[in-house]
Amino acid sequence: MAKRDYYEVLGVAKNASEEDIKKAYRKLAMKYHPDRNQGDKAKEAEEKFKEAKEAYEMLSDPKKRAAYDQYGHAGVDPSMGGAGFRGGPEGFGGFAEAFGDIFGDIFGTGGSRRGGPQVYRGSDLSYAMEITLEEAAFGKEAQIRIPSWEDCDTCHGSGARPGTSAKTCGTCHGSGTVHLRQGFFSIQQTCPNCHGSGKVIPDPCPSCGGQGRVKRAKTLEVKIPAGIDEGMRIRSAGNGEPGTNGGPPGDLYIEIRIKKHEIFERDGDDLHCTVPVSITTAILGGTIEVPTLSGRAEIELPEGTQHGKTFRLRGKGIKGVRSAYPGDLYCHIQIETPVKLTEHQRKLVKELDESLKKGGERHSPHAKSWTDRVKDLFK
Ligand SMILES: [Zn+2]
Ligand SMILES: [Zn+2]
Repeated sequence: MAKRDYYEVLGVAKNASEEDIKKAYRKLAMKYHPDRNQGDKAKEAEEKFKEAKEAYEMLSDPKKRAAYDQYGHAGVDPSMGGAGFRGGPEGFGGFAEAFGDIFGDIFGTGGSRRGGPQVYRGSDLSYAMEITLEEAAFGKEAQIRIPSWEDCDTCHGSGARPGTSAKTCGTCHGSGTVHLRQGFFSIQQTCPNCHGSGKVIPDPCPSCGGQGRVKRAKTLEVKIPAGIDEGMRIRSAGNGEPGTNGGPPGDLYIEIRIKKHEIFERDGDDLHCTVPVSITTAILGGTIEVPTLSGRAEIELPEGTQHGKTFRLRGKGIKGVRSAYPGDLYCHIQIETPVKLTEHQRKLVKELDESLKKGGERHSPHAKSWTDRVKDLFK
């Protein structure tokens, strides 16, 4: 019987990604699951599964896939036993093992690591750090206290009371996994007795409660990059919780919170601030001083500056972590109406008012369009 094309077997395109190939294989493995293919169909399902497994083994290996793409079946004939290639599954044992493999994979039980304790990566930790806007803009070096785990002094990490020792788990015989069998089909699971470590501690160490390690605190130097923004996270690899059964530790994530600033409000790389200006300066014009994150700057107010006018100071914002240029500073003018006037001042304002009225609308740039709009509204 002529061999079917591997891509055809898996039902994927010639340019399918590794992920697509894996997905297709999983689907077929489910389809030809022995639970769904009993009696008459069992034999055919097993054949189909073998065919899919072979196709998967070839196409999931970049070298073999390249050879297959170039020479077809002649390039990768499994019966020739190429480098690193294990022959197709033999009999029911092989079939069961193959299913164990893929189902272990699907259910995430860590089935790929066979014959030893089940290792798990430690959890990630997160740390909230509050910094000022200035610190966010210019960066800072900080020291933080974080939890760390050290080998217990009493048991030196074994978790067993001094003078006693851990024993091999009787349930899994030290492998850390158990196989649930259904006919010739088997699923590998983490041993429920030892939780995958392959060992049990009959007499736990009183200092660490059998954990083998104790929680302490340590100081970590953290470099906050200039331009960091609210909610950004800095990853400190390996500073999370320790792994289980010798697995790698998790990571520490430092999450940035920025304190509200007295003057500036941040919007991405830009800054905004409100600048109060006296009514006389607004009328006559003049130079006003405005704050920036890196010192003072000046704005030339033209004569007759209106309330709400915005002045942009280029480059006086923040240079974001991934930005090529700093943002801008927007100064929003807020005109102050004078309060608590003396009699003399009131008199001067009245005089000014009389004088302005004589001049009519030309002193009030917004008044005409405003009265027109009101008229339109009540027409
Ligand atoms: Zn201990
Ligand atoms: Zn066990």
